[in-house]
Amino acid sequence: MCGIIGFVGRQEAAPILLDGLAQMEYRGYDSAGIAVRGPEKGLQVMKSKGRLQALSDLTHQGADLTGPLGIGHTRWATHGEPNDVNAHPHVSENGKIALVHNGIIENYLEIKEQLMNHGVTFTSDTDSEVVAQLLEYHYNECGSMTEAVGRCLRRIEGAYALGIICADYPNAIIAARKDAPLILGFGENENFIASDVTAILKHTRDVIYMNDGEIAVLTADSIDVFDDELTPLNREHSYVDWDAEAAEKGGYPHFMFKEILEQPEAIRKTVSPRVRGGRVVLDDIALTADYARRISRIYMIACGSAYYAGMVEKYVWETLLRRPVEVVLASEFRYCQPLVDENTFVIAISQSGETLDTMAALREAKRLGGRTLAVCNVVGSSIAREADDVLYTWAGPEIAVATSKGYSTQLAALDLVGLYLADLLGTVEKAEYDAILTELQALPDKMQQYLEHYEETQYYASRYFNHNSIFFIGRNLDFAMGLEGSLKLKEISYIHSEAYASGELKHGTISLIEPGTLVVALGTHAPLFDKAMSNVVEVKARGATVLAVTTDSLRESMEKTADAVISIPETHQLLQPSLGIVPLQLFAYYVALQRGCDIDKPRNLAKSVTVE
Ligand code: GLU
Repeated sequence: MCGIIGFVGRQEAAPILLDGLAQMEYRGYDSAGIAVRGPEKGLQVMKSKGRLQALSDLTHQGADLTGPLGIGHTRWATHGEPNDVNAHPHVSENGKIALVHNGIIENYLEIKEQLMNHGVTFTSDTDSEVVAQLLEYHYNECGSMTEAVGRCLRRIEGAYALGIICADYPNAIIAARKDAPLILGFGENENFIASDVTAILKHTRDVIYMNDGEIAVLTADSIDVFDDELTPLNREHSYVDWDAEAAEKGGYPHFMFKEILEQPEAIRKTVSPRVRGGRVVLDDIALTADYARRISRIYMIACGSAYYAGMVEKYVWETLLRRPVEVVLASEFRYCQPLVDENTFVIAISQSGETLDTMAALREAKRLGGRTLAVCNVVGSSIAREADDVLYTWAGPEIAVATSKGYSTQLAALDLVGLYLADLLGTVEKAEYDAILTELQALPDKMQQYLEHYEETQYYASRYFNHNSIFFIGRNLDFAMGLEGSLKLKEISYIHSEAYASGELKHGTISLIEPGTLVVALGTHAPLFDKAMSNVVEVKARGATVLAVTTDSLRESMEKTADAVISIPETHQLLQPSLGIVPLQLFAYYVALQRGCDIDKPRNLAKSVTVE
């Protein structure tokens, strides 16, 4: 969510800052701004509500701000409406300090009041401006910017990634982080800060992932990292081996479309390196059979689509492991007094690895003594680093705000861990284990088979795109899959939609079905197909139009009742949602396209949600 970029070097900073912000546009934002410090014009700040293009036009592609050092920001408003004034960078009252901030300062009101009592005048409604003003206050007090930053950080509470420049320091950027991602990038005679590695991938792959409580001072020739007491630290560097092209659209109309089509390859990358000699081998995870036997309870904690991946895997894991699995929304978990002890296995699922709610839930699980595993895509992300173990999904950069390959690789990764534990525990017959693993490896090809003739899905999207309310119904794994299908549609097409367990319809929701209501009936779970069909008949009897998704072999039966049918190849029933979700993603995509929606950047949404 939101983005920070900072540059210090020998070239003009503004175009580099604008380009860095453009690489992070996918994260979702409502306003943008840059501050540049140069020898002629001193500290210059320009910002604007709306798309980055507005800022680019305003600054004549950056030409209006001159100097070799600066910071930039795309804001996703939490405190104060999205407008020009509340956009970042924020400047302190004397005009000397400019700052960009991601996150939330929780005690900002209290500090604001104190500063106002000292006569400070605020111009914005944001929590972030408080930090700029507090910095000025401490700088006036002690005369050193690094010392002022240290004092300021001891005073503020909440989450932050900060990029700071000061008119009195023409050669330096100061950065600090707590509970919000920030990366230091090392270039040749130039250095960078960024909240997201994609912003600086064009310039460098040599990075340090800052830890909580650290402060960094960057000049064109050096980066020094300190702890919160300003003691110098010797931090290890990381190398980013992401393919820069993977973060480009490469001729596709939308990132989302490209990422949907990339799913077979992404799943292959998740699965293949972890299967050896007919077994799941998880070198990355230090789980012993002894620990596996002691597990008495399993939690999956996540938000959004990752939560729905957990909903699918609850069915899968409970079948494989015969142990209770609870899927809990991360934002609820931390406040619900979860029953965690040393025999509780807690899996935190987050594509970005920076989802603040999931991070907070993970910390709570650790505090209570649980053993934690992160399932993340972004290497080196905060959740990946804090969990006891991490299993990366290796999906490559996911740029569209609405996830597709992020979700399907989470399913594949969790299938792997489920099988791995089942093997340790001996809870699945060998033949069944082999059958599931063989099908897991075959998923990319079967997905590709469907993707070669998805026109029928496109056709139904153009037939049904003008509905205002769409229901997804299904039983068991189909229900769990429908939750994600419905979310996809809501996210990008803005159509009201709900996913229901088919058997639950008659207990309430069926009253909402009226002539013409579109119901997407999911009938891919063969064991409950007949029961699912009864529910289709129920909604048909109330006048619903039914678009069904089923498997190739059940297609004929489905066609007898449904108005339209999309079919997918068969796989092991526990893995069927991995295939079934693809037409649902494409259906949402084409419906959104027909409705003229901003598919890669849906309104009000952000890619990685780094606020509570
Ligand atoms: N809380 C800050 C604001 O509302 C920063 C939001 C962000 O992370 O973009 O301005």
